[in-house]
Amino acid sequence: MLENIDYPNPKSNLRQSILRADCENCFGLCCVALTFVASSDFTINKDSGKPCKNLQSDFRCGIHKNLSQNGFKGCTVFDCFGAGQKVSQYTFNGVDWRDNPETAKKCSMCSQLCSNFMRCNRIWLKHLS
Ligand code: SF4
Repeated sequence: MLENIDYPNPKSNLRQSILRADCENCFGLCCVALTFVASSDFTINKDSGKPCKNLQSDFRCGIHKNLSQNGFKGCTVFDCFGAGQKVSQYTFNGVDWRDNPETAKKCSMCSQLCSNFMRCNRIWLKHLS
């Protein structure tokens, strides 16, 4: 399933699956929205709405190539199914939470809701095909 993405302020504007993450057009929402509980999956505790300590200023992960070795195995299996760029580009009109810190909590809530919705959508589409 492809769509011609028409984001208001895109970093890239590629034609791609609507259920595929497009980190280039996301503000690292999964690295802010999710809660971490120190365990075998995450080496730290982190509250929802707080940026991960490994999230860089360009919204890229500073340890992306070595997540598991650095104690962030949980990040290797997470998939937002395209929710991140939708919330970043449509809901927040391409304005990131660093420019509007008070919206970080709203980003978290939206991203989690969209992620759950898109997960349900993907399951539904799988059953139809
Ligand atoms: S470790 Fe990297 S991928 Fe995982 S939440 Fe932090 S910045 Fe994001």
